[in-house]
Amino acid sequence: MATVGTAMARITFFETEEWERDYLKRQLKGHALQFIDGHLGVKSASKASTSDAVGIFIYSPIDAKILSKLPKCRLIATMSTGFDHIDLKACKKRGVAVCNVPSYGENTVAEHAFALILSISRKIPQSAERAKHGDFTLEGLRGFDLKGRTIGILGTGKIGRHVIRMAKGFEMNVVAYDAFPDKLEAKELGFTYASFNKLLERSDVISLHLPLIPSTKHIIGAKAFGKMKRGCVLINTARGALVDTHALLAALKDGTVSYAGLDVLEEECEIKEEKELLSAAFARTCDLKTVLENHLLLNHPRVIITPHNAFNSQEALERILDTTAQNISSFFGGRAINAV
Ligand code: NAD
Repeated sequence: MATVGTAMARITFFETEEWERDYLKRQLKGHALQFIDGHLGVKSASKASTSDAVGIFIYSPIDAKILSKLPKCRLIATMSTGFDHIDLKACKKRGVAVCNVPSYGENTVAEHAFALILSISRKIPQSAERAKHGDFTLEGLRGFDLKGRTIGILGTGKIGRHVIRMAKGFEMNVVAYDAFPDKLEAKELGFTYASFNKLLERSDVISLHLPLIPSTKHIIGAKAFGKMKRGCVLINTARGALVDTHALLAALKDGTVSYAGLDVLEEECEIKEEKELLSAAFARTCDLKTVLENHLLLNHPRVIITPHNAFNSQEALERILDTTAQNISSFFGGRAINAV
């Protein structure tokens, strides 16, 4: 079996589901694939000792010890955006390349954000529940139009921009805040940047698309709620801890926030990568249901919660596999892509 620079390679995948195996086999025809149940660890590494590449997810930590058990390996293809489970220095020392999946779900998460907005504006869960019980009365089901309203986008990165495009399709006014404003993009998409406080003051709907870092933790807290327009709708599909839950409950109570649509909650177990949520290893260590059940927000009549499901579309998951397959094919074709 050949290695770098030629078309054919021996590749061992860990942490894959059945459908992903079939998909990868189709995408990587011409290579010799092997699939091992579970993660890549000291014990299972021997199964990949003759492999030219390994495909892993974040539950397979790669360090010098593991690498020493993979003497033929030239490439680690992680099927994740994050790569802090991989010791890059140790890889470099052994001449092992590492590639990742830089993005896969920006439209997917944006669509979910809009699903939450529309669920709220048109009272979809309440309407569907009522119709299911054979009750077709309309009392209490009047919604509101999005057209002409102002949406405030916090974070105009990959996902935020998709939300902006969708909002423009609904003829909403878009105001945005970002630490690194892209004025050219704003002109092209037809939105304006404003200060954080001005965005809070002007927006009827606020949608969060910021990373969770020390400076953004609780960015939506009591002070921010104090500046919001009365009756504002808050949407969070980014990270739970961007919002101070206690302050949100108070803002719901005093009417500052009329409705909240949340795909993420502050008390979630620490999630680095969305796809963790589909992994059995994650389910064993974190009981999301219990966390959610204990949460006051879950039963709030003006809050819609989805279980961190925004990333979870067939297409988004296939994009992870497509990029991984391209990473591997390109590398063994002599042109590394998405190297980290
Ligand atoms: P991105 O990196 O493309 O965009 C983030 C934006 O935030 C950038 O434009 C950046 O300049 C801006 N930013 C960073 N720090 C800031 C600060 N302190 N103040 C103001 N702006 C700041 O990220 P993305 O891919 O658009 O993802 C956005 C969020 O969505 C992330 O938190 C990510 O974890 C989350 N996410 C959620 C799901 C889900 O299933 N719910 C799936 C994928 C991503």
